[in-house]
Amino acid sequence: MEKRTNEKRVILFPLPLQGCINPMLQLATILFSRGFSITIIHTRFNAPKSSDHPLFTFLQMADGLSETQTQSPDLLLKLTLLNENCEKPLRECLAKLLKPDSDSETEQEKISCLIDDSGWTFTQSVAESFNLPRFVLCAYKFTFFLGHLLVPQLRRHGFLPFPDSEAEDLVPEFPPLRKKDLSRIMGTSSQMEMLDSYLVKILESTKPASGIIVMSCQELDQDSLAESHKVFNFPIFPIGPSHIHDVPASSSSLFEPDQSCIPWLDNQETKSVIYVSLGSIVTMSESEFLEIAFGLRNTDLAFLWVVRPGSVQGRDWIESLPVGFMESLDGKGKIVKWAPQLDVLAHRATGGFLTHNGWNSTLESICEGVPMISLPFVWDQMLNARFISEVWRIGIHLEGRIERREIERAVRRVMVDSEGEEIQARIKVLQDEVRRSVKRGGSSSRSLDDLVNRILSF
Ligand code: UDP
Repeated sequence: MEKRTNEKRVILFPLPLQGCINPMLQLATILFSRGFSITIIHTRFNAPKSSDHPLFTFLQMADGLSETQTQSPDLLLKLTLLNENCEKPLRECLAKLLKPDSDSETEQEKISCLIDDSGWTFTQSVAESFNLPRFVLCAYKFTFFLGHLLVPQLRRHGFLPFPDSEAEDLVPEFPPLRKKDLSRIMGTSSQMEMLDSYLVKILESTKPASGIIVMSCQELDQDSLAESHKVFNFPIFPIGPSHIHDVPASSSSLFEPDQSCIPWLDNQETKSVIYVSLGSIVTMSESEFLEIAFGLRNTDLAFLWVVRPGSVQGRDWIESLPVGFMESLDGKGKIVKWAPQLDVLAHRATGGFLTHNGWNSTLESICEGVPMISLPFVWDQMLNARFISEVWRIGIHLEGRIERREIERAVRRVMVDSEGEEIQARIKVLQDEVRRSVKRGGSSSRSLDDLVNRILSF
């Protein structure tokens, strides 16, 4: 296959975070399979590897982040700076692409629309200035996206902070979130101020868009999708998990996946391995890291654990494990820096997933029918974890108890006890429903058709 010309082109602009790049590039792959040419505009920071997608055109733009800022663990600050810095470069990029006498390969093409992440707050006005329709990609569970509305309201109504005695109470406006989950989402009061204004900007810049593409489906988000018309008067396209549509799943890893995971899993019994990964952003203290290590070892079960370099605070990697720890596992444990997660979850040997419940990881686990142990740290992870344990009942919640005995107990409940079998049966049902939704005639498949037709209509 070759890059296309003379066709309709879609421009995609992902937020430079692994959890946002993956669904955006997978969406690009789907749209390419439907006949669109693809241009990816991206920042220098966390630039996707263009060599993984030879059929797309990549345009890198300046993002103004200093080396120190790219290293900062403060995600909200990074997003704020990116939003401040990227407007001019994006405008320049689009001006070049849309120039009528452009000598680029897009010369005879029509650029149909811009698709960018909900976390970009300046793109609507930029798109409008070029008369370019814009779609917002929501890479969260839609309940959480609607929650963007609620959080500032709750704060303004003096809901936060709340007394300790109310920690376990449900937030009536935002079930199944508890007050303690909400306070984890909001962070400290200075973070709250910043977050509040960021959420308001996200909503304000989403409302005038041409539609939202949601990485979720009716089967997982029916209630919030039904509510959406109260907030947005444009079409919503819940196209389902992008990686299970009938197109080749493409890798968009910012880190090099350690492929030795797969032969190692090949040598393990069916459903005998607990896979542990906390995604691309979460960090933990050294003592939390050691509690997880001992908890896993004490289960006496096989585990495959992703420890990203730099994810143990103050350490490079796993050097704080006691001498002889890995040898004491007798081959039952494997630690890697980054895994080919989709392949790991799809492997017959994987029987459970200790996860931070980022939305991609949650969807990927559901699509492979792998029960979860939830260890959410921040943001939408808190909500996803509640859906896992309370609504769908396809996993158990560690409730932040990063202690070896708790971890051992949770892993055994999922991997060994009869409770695990019940969870397994429930996740299988959900897995089938979600997978059916992307098949011809399913809700996600129909939504994708609607999206394609909408883009073609511009
Ligand atoms: N991932 C991966 N290998 C790893 C860990 C994660 O490929 O070792 C991928 C995972 O499949 C998912 C993404 O990185 O698509 C993480 O996104 P998620 O929303 O779960 O969490 P975030 O990184 O945004 O916190």
